[in-house]
Amino acid sequence: MTAELNHFAMMFAPRTVVGRDCVIHSADDTIDGTLRAAPTMAMARMLLLLVTMALLGSCSASELTGAPVIHPLRQLLGSGRVLASRGGVPCDSWMLGVEAHNVRDWKTVPANCEGYVGHYMLGSHYRRDSKVVVDEAFAYAETLKLAGKGKEVWVFDIDETTLSNLPYYAKHGFGTKPFNATSFNAYVLEGSALALPETKRLYKKLLSIGVKPVLLTGRTEDQRAITIANLLHQGFSGWMNLLLKQPGFKGSAIAYKSGERQKLQDAGYVIVGNIGDQWSDILGAPEGTRTFKLPDPMYYIG
Ligand SMILES: [Mg+2]
Repeated sequence: MTAELNHFAMMFAPRTVVGRDCVIHSADDTIDGTLRAAPTMAMARMLLLLVTMALLGSCSASELTGAPVIHPLRQLLGSGRVLASRGGVPCDSWMLGVEAHNVRDWKTVPANCEGYVGHYMLGSHYRRDSKVVVDEAFAYAETLKLAGKGKEVWVFDIDETTLSNLPYYAKHGFGTKPFNATSFNAYVLEGSALALPETKRLYKKLLSIGVKPVLLTGRTEDQRAITIANLLHQGFSGWMNLLLKQPGFKGSAIAYKSGERQKLQDAGYVIVGNIGDQWSDILGAPEGTRTFKLPDPMYYIG
């Protein structure tokens, strides 16, 4: 992680660390006067216990009380804790809507969700959610019965799928600011994007069993050389094809990507899997036998 990302990670770090693993936010962040409203000492003690349980970082409530816990309150608050409901837009609900493709065609992350999305991306939650996706893809890959003719391929998107542009987005409001093609393309030409470790794990698994990766990206043909250099530098190699958008293409992302997949199929390849961070990576026939959607709350490509 770069120094700047460390800086952001520090910004989102909890304020108080208690014990070896337990994390509690300071009261001005979290309690919002609830404790002051408690009418009796007994109720105050109960509320204090509940709030403490809700804000624990990694201790279970049973460690505090010795009693079994049915439903820790922390799960209701989301990874951004009170950030999820501060400022009007409930960021955790908005993000669920995005990932489920109920919220569509959005241009920017809601302004009040910058902290929530930043916390999600820089903390452990993003990696954990990505791991769930890749674990499923990995298990599916292990069930594949290859025909032995070398025709099975798996389509990978690049940005926020194989390579992460988080260093760029961390400097630009985690998607709360309108997309700036000039500054983003300048960043792409640095060739400094980072490998997404979960995707790399899947990529290497597929190579090991004889499924050929095909990289299909909205990056343009003039970015081929730097994209190859970036991928190789980050440990990706051995792909069958790197398909970039050709000059003059005017259609939607779905039309572009489904059209390229159709060409693969017409050439006799069997698309056994397809993974991307955008719904436009995985919608539009032929989608592939199975599709996998990685999380991306920072931008939408239709
Ligand atoms: Mg992408």
